[in-house]
Amino acid sequence: MPTELLGGLLFLLLPVAAGSGWYFARKKYFNPSSYVEDVAPEYYKGLRYIIDEQPDKAIEVFLKLLEVDSETVEVHLALGNLFRRRGEVDRAVRVHQNLIARPTLSTEQRSQALVELGVDYLRSGLLDRAEVMFESLLTTAYKSRAALYLVEIYEEEQDWDKAVECARIWQQNSSHKLNKRIAHYYSKKAEECLADNDLKPAREFIKLALKEDSNCAHASMVEGHLEMLEKNYKAAIKAFKRIEKQAPEFISEVLIPLKTCYRNLDKSHKFLEYLHELPTSQTGVNQIIELSDFIEENEGSDNAIRFLIDKAEELPSVRMLDRLVDLSLIAEEGENKTKLECFKRLTGKLVEVKSAFKCSHCGYRARSIYWQCPACKNWDTVKPIQGVVSEQF
Ligand SMILES: [Zn+2]
Repeated sequence: MPTELLGGLLFLLLPVAAGSGWYFARKKYFNPSSYVEDVAPEYYKGLRYIIDEQPDKAIEVFLKLLEVDSETVEVHLALGNLFRRRGEVDRAVRVHQNLIARPTLSTEQRSQALVELGVDYLRSGLLDRAEVMFESLLTTAYKSRAALYLVEIYEEEQDWDKAVECARIWQQNSSHKLNKRIAHYYSKKAEECLADNDLKPAREFIKLALKEDSNCAHASMVEGHLEMLEKNYKAAIKAFKRIEKQAPEFISEVLIPLKTCYRNLDKSHKFLEYLHELPTSQTGVNQIIELSDFIEENEGSDNAIRFLIDKAEELPSVRMLDRLVDLSLIAEEGENKTKLECFKRLTGKLVEVKSAFKCSHCGYRARSIYWQCPACKNWDTVKPIQGVVSEQF
């Protein structure tokens, strides 16, 4: 610990000792030699505490040594940030609180210190305190930065209304747009309404989401499920199929509800046509399994097996193998059936533990759909995994 911290502090404090310290020495004592006598011993004392692995005592010394003044605010901020970067958030909080407590700060410096203290709280998981800190900054020159941190907090708290509000504040002063994220927030609101069976507001939120980002597959997916609940199967098919253009990689996730919609309209043959039209590269294994189900229902298991064997060469997958074993079991009897059942237990277990989604940013793997990655918090980075090459157990 001490080596890295020592390096960081030396980097920070040497210029202080050599520059600001001498400045203060001159300012206060009008005599550099008196600085050496009065300030430098304290400075060395602080360094000694670091070498002796007593960083708290070192902080006390440095905080006293670095009298807060317009000349040393930057040093305090840098010292606090250094501690935070090292994961020592408690110490960062102490440094930043010490800074804020000084009455001599300008409004600008005070806001800057409040931002840093807010980040300390955020990184230590004290969301309530961070929220208060950043909200107090919404009327300052730091409002844009504060709004972006608030977006992070409200996403964590799943307060989608406030997340929308702060994303809009941030957009006002930025060339970057958050409209894709805002569309997800509205889609989340629609999902919540759908769960409570409040279909009218759910419909409104879907509209808002698509207005914000016409390519929001999340909104189309919620819309499809809403229309299914209302038994508007034609409208549901329209919403689900929209995903093909919005985010083709997600069409595989709506094939089962699409099949249900076509069935309820007594148009299963249309679903089969649609499956044949879709390129395998977009839908991967889900499409092939759906097709094999359809072939089994209409032409028998032998044809479905032949179809799967053909496709397995094109896009090998454990899920396809598992389905192949299912189909083979139908016609088998006796010893062969026992062997296949044993094989099925194995493939069944493999499918059970398999990740179906992966984050392209951080590699996080999941078994269900996440529009925001739970690990790296990016939106739209968790995508369905297609084929055995990407499958991991
Ligand atoms: Zn991620």
